[in-house]
Amino acid sequence: MLVSDQLERLDRLPLRTNLRGLSPYGAPQLDVPILLNVNENTHGVPADVQAAITEAVAAAATGLNRYPDREFTELREALAEYLGHGLSPDNIWAANGSNEVLQQILQAFGGPGRKALGFPPTYSMYPLLASGTDTEYVGGVRADDYGLDAESAAAQVRETGANIVFLCSPNNPTGTGLSLDVVEAVYEAGEASQAIVIVDEAYHEFAHDNTPSALTLLPGRERLIVSRTMSKAFALAGARLGYMAAAPEVTDAIRLVRLPYHLSAVTQATALAALNHREALMADVEDIKVQRDRIVTELLRMGLKPAASDSNYVFFGGLEEPHKIWQGLLEAGVLIRDVGIPGHLRVTAGTEPETTAFLEALEALLDDAPPPHA
Ligand SMILES: *Cc1c(COP(=O)(O)O)cnc(C)c1O
Repeated sequence: MLVSDQLERLDRLPLRTNLRGLSPYGAPQLDVPILLNVNENTHGVPADVQAAITEAVAAAATGLNRYPDREFTELREALAEYLGHGLSPDNIWAANGSNEVLQQILQAFGGPGRKALGFPPTYSMYPLLASGTDTEYVGGVRADDYGLDAESAAAQVRETGANIVFLCSPNNPTGTGLSLDVVEAVYEAGEASQAIVIVDEAYHEFAHDNTPSALTLLPGRERLIVSRTMSKAFALAGARLGYMAAAPEVTDAIRLVRLPYHLSAVTQATALAALNHREALMADVEDIKVQRDRIVTELLRMGLKPAASDSNYVFFGGLEEPHKIWQGLLEAGVLIRDVGIPGHLRVTAGTEPETTAFLEALEALLDDAPPPHA
């Protein structure tokens, strides 16, 4: 079917006004040998974790005639233990991916007449989740180098009177972490509008050693939420398990909007098995960090401008014709991400051979192209 024909048909439907003209989230899913485009964990699920998941899911299968534990008690206990910071199961909530967690937060605290503030370039799902819940989305501003300082962020929270603030740390697509003084300043500035402040730490496990988590700020801050996921460090993007830590009253608020039994017994069993066998997974995280740092070093040597990265991907500028480079890499069998920012591309750190293939293909393309901007 022609795309324009499909659009016309969509237009004729009685779609909600705030969804008209929107496009769905859509990173291209192409069949390419080396996939470095959506920040997945490239190292696969370690063999012992696969075995543990298989066994746990087989056990869960015997009870699938019954609804799962609605409170996913065992999983909340395991997640609290994993996060540490004195958190208890009452502080933990989980759903099918952190995207669902974020949607539930918007359902509980956003909605018509309320405003969510994000700081683009940032995760492209924030505005989509906002419109899906009829929450107004306001795009704030960053510095020219895409940084965000405490004073500027706090001022924007005050000016907009935001009800919800999205802070992504490390930020996607730029990869750079936020210092905790930004979170503290935003939280204080949100006092007047009673803003819920979400720190999206989807990539926290990839941060350089000793990078503090916003989890350290939770005590005494009942409007603060830290969201995490098993999609990246735990190599479980396909299993769909995201979670958050917050004050117990916040998790109670989310219980008002969750669907009954939203976390399947299969999902709970899978996530628990991975949490209980995380040693090999965390070793892969260390290897990915090595490849990430290698990408930064090599891109600098090629005269490009990679941003500092605390994630499993690198955002880099200094490209004359990013789309041409993206296309050339695709032809070489390497899919990376064009995030639509002039002069820039984003690449996920791969296994060592995948990273080598990317770096070699990129260097060959740059040799054929005019020299990058100084
Ligand atoms: C990948 C990612 C997530 C994770 O989404 P899931 O729904 O848990 O797979 C959340 N936030 C950001 C910024 C991400 O890049």
